Amino acid sequence: MEHSFGSEKRGAERIKILLFLIFFLILLFPNLYSKEQKEADKIKIITSVFPLQEFAEAVAGERGEVSLLLPPGAEIHTWQPRASDIIRLSSANVFIYVGAALEPWLHDMMKSVKNPEIRILEASQGLSLLGKNHDQPKHKEKKNAEEHNHKHSVIDPHVWLDFKNDQIIVDRIKALLSELVPEDRPFFKRNALIYQKKLQKLDQKYQEGLRNCSQSTFILGGHAAFGYLARRYGLNQIALYGLNPDSKPTPRKLAEIVDLAKEHQIKVIYFEDYFSDDLAKVMAKEVGAETMVLNAGANISKEQLKSGNTFLEIMEKNLENLRHGLNCR
Ligand SMILES: [Zn+2]
Repeated sequence: MEHSFGSEKRGAERIKILLFLIFFLILLFPNLYSKEQKEADKIKIITSVFPLQEFAEAVAGERGEVSLLLPPGAEIHTWQPRASDIIRLSSANVFIYVGAALEPWLHDMMKSVKNPEIRILEASQGLSLLGKNHDQPKHKEKKNAEEHNHKHSVIDPHVWLDFKNDQIIVDRIKALLSELVPEDRPFFKRNALIYQKKLQKLDQKYQEGLRNCSQSTFILGGHAAFGYLARRYGLNQIALYGLNPDSKPTPRKLAEIVDLAKEHQIKVIYFEDYFSDDLAKVMAKEVGAETMVLNAGANISKEQLKSGNTFLEIMEKNLENLRHGLNCR
């Protein structure tokens, strides 16, 4: 009797300790659990170009894990997706791309991506696109091969170089993320507003900075990426290459632009960061001008990535260089 009472007492003691331990674990566990869960719950977002990455990061904040599809420094017009990109996209929640024929590889790539859950956002959709209302040829049967080639790149895909467009894109990213994680709607809304204010400020800086200039024409030794910027601030873009940088300019085109540069008394020939500045230098020498960078910001180099360069900073630098070349007060 006594013996059994003693073991009962010891048993009760053990249960007490066990209950205490469980209680303690419950206290600890939710924190550990939710921390791990938060990492796993992050919205995996992949974007095609650098500006879209920055916009998505700004809106998603700590709730997102945003990465760029292209490796640093790769050229968006000529890049080709690799098998590893298809695998990355297969586990992403969101893919954001520009559209307007900027990513010609997109259609084929998405056919290989096995991810029915992925949400896809075409950033240029619904924006007022440049070159959209180009005259359609009236006599289709007479259209020759050369005309046909022109048709392919008739829409300007560089929509992010209009900061008003960027504000709309940020809105659409906010809407998509809010749909995915409704409980974080206020967080996304606040983040979007903060970034949109920065874009508004940048736009104002451009408006003011380019108001009093003795020139309005700028000449690019690269491709015609700045059409939207030119439209927004009343400038005139003349580019050596077309909308796509892979079509080589003819010597005649080069001579034509040199003549135009002389005529407009151009003092700066711009070139792009990821592009050889050879032709820009040739033209500059011919014209008696200097060369400066104008960066479309579609992608950034490894060095720029390391030094934490932002899209907004790249655009500020462009403004500085434009103000110098256009003789602005
Ligand atoms: Zn481009």
